[in-house]
Amino acid sequence: MNDRTALVTGANKGIGKHIARLLVTEGFSVYVASRDAGRGERAVEEIGEGARPLVLDVTDAGSVARAAAAVDHLDVLVNNAGINVSLDPPSGTGIEDFRRTYETNVLGVVAVTNAFLPALRRSPHPRVVNVSTGPASFTWSTGPNPQFAPGRPGSGAYRSAKAALNMLTLLYAQELAGDGVKVNALAPGRRATDLLPGLAATGGDPAEAARGAVRLALLPDDGPSGAFFSWDGTPVPW
Ligand code: NAP
Repeated sequence: MNDRTALVTGANKGIGKHIARLLVTEGFSVYVASRDAGRGERAVEEIGEGARPLVLDVTDAGSVARAAAAVDHLDVLVNNAGINVSLDPPSGTGIEDFRRTYETNVLGVVAVTNAFLPALRRSPHPRVVNVSTGPASFTWSTGPNPQFAPGRPGSGAYRSAKAALNMLTLLYAQELAGDGVKVNALAPGRRATDLLPGLAATGGDPAEAARGAVRLALLPDDGPSGAFFSWDGTPVPW
């Protein structure tokens, strides 16, 4: 293994796979975490030397514990795994869809972060990157931004879950500041992935979003923590 080690959840495809590939390019040994062993191994083969598979379902406590037990030292954790199961506004979204979304996008991040904190604390420059979304910004959701203006209250479960993730980003950053752990959130922009039907044909390049994540993974010790950034490095208002 290289000296610097990173772990990316949901790294078998989409933005996560690009983040894993870029971190390898930056010289990290990267755990390509995937809930499905086969999909994870295929991604590792694609990425090549520097990548190694790790089975990790962020909603399964046993899976999280087994993965954490296999990792002794970690410099970078990217909480990327996420789902969006309903585009409906809150009143049209079933409670089960809310539950599934929160299980993955909120509780999964808490479970993984807490499980890997001992390994992160062994790093001289630990960094956590939480992959959030611009439409979780209260400011953008209430302002003149035409993408997320008040007339567009869709994806109620997804956006509220990512807003919870934003608050957790801030709280973890405040809690862990004394340990040197920097925790930031990323708004990756609309990207061509399997997150939603049709997105693969209409979204932008996921590699561009991955560069934003890697920027936060490589922050210097005097860099920000407890903040929300767009893929291009500009701050996103909470
Ligand atoms: P994607 O291609 O659908 O990838 C999502 C990844 O998360 C997949 O690897 C998926 O694994 C994994 N995943 C889902 N549930 C999981 C679980 N319980 N345990 C472990 N892994 C799990 O979507 P993406 O666009 O790359 O999404 C990556 C992140 O970016 C998400 O957090 C998403 O909310 C965020 N985001 C994306 C966009 C966009 O436009 N694409 C915009 C804003 C934010 P499987 O292959 O096994 O399903």
